[in-house]
Amino acid sequence: MAGKVSSAKGKGGATKSRQKYQNTFAYKPHKKDTVALKIAALPAKGLCQRCLDIVDWRKRMNKYKPLTQPKTCVGCKQKKVTDAYHVLCKSCAEEKNVCAKCQESTDVVTPDIRTPADILREEQDQERLLASMSERQRRSYLRRVARGDDEGAQKVVLAAEKNEDGGWSDFDDFDDEEEDEEDDDA
Ligand SMILES: [Zn+2]
Ligand SMILES: [Zn+2]
Repeated sequence: MAGKVSSAKGKGGATKSRQKYQNTFAYKPHKKDTVALKIAALPAKGLCQRCLDIVDWRKRMNKYKPLTQPKTCVGCKQKKVTDAYHVLCKSCAEEKNVCAKCQESTDVVTPDIRTPADILREEQDQERLLASMSERQRRSYLRRVARGDDEGAQKVVLAAEKNEDGGWSDFDDFDDEEEDEEDDDA
């Protein structure tokens, strides 16, 4: 669809500039629509800090998919899970006293209620972060997020924050992973 942007093919190829390469990556900023804001404001209840971070991450990246209908709880096998990315229903999670996503941590946290202004600020931070990344980091990062590999995505962020000017050879290996984007939304 995006195709080639008027490539000067066949004319000696002398104009292969760095800038042209960078422009081939179409980075779309997030739409600040009301649906996104509403999703961002949905509190993720009954999660441990780690899972909460992951869910928040998805929201910020516009990768959060709310459930359209209740999902089967892995505990009671009833269709009682109403929150996306949770595997236990509220009552099972409370009964077992574990995180409703990883089912491991017993350290369930109460998420902060964020205002739309907070959310906008976070999104702006996110965009600044993406803008500061090299194209390769950004692609690597977005691919991980799309795949649901949130921890991998955070690693790229950390690497990008440490050395913004490209010296992140550790991640070359990561970047060679297969391109297919799996949907982890079981
Ligand atoms: Zn249940
Ligand atoms: Zn958890």
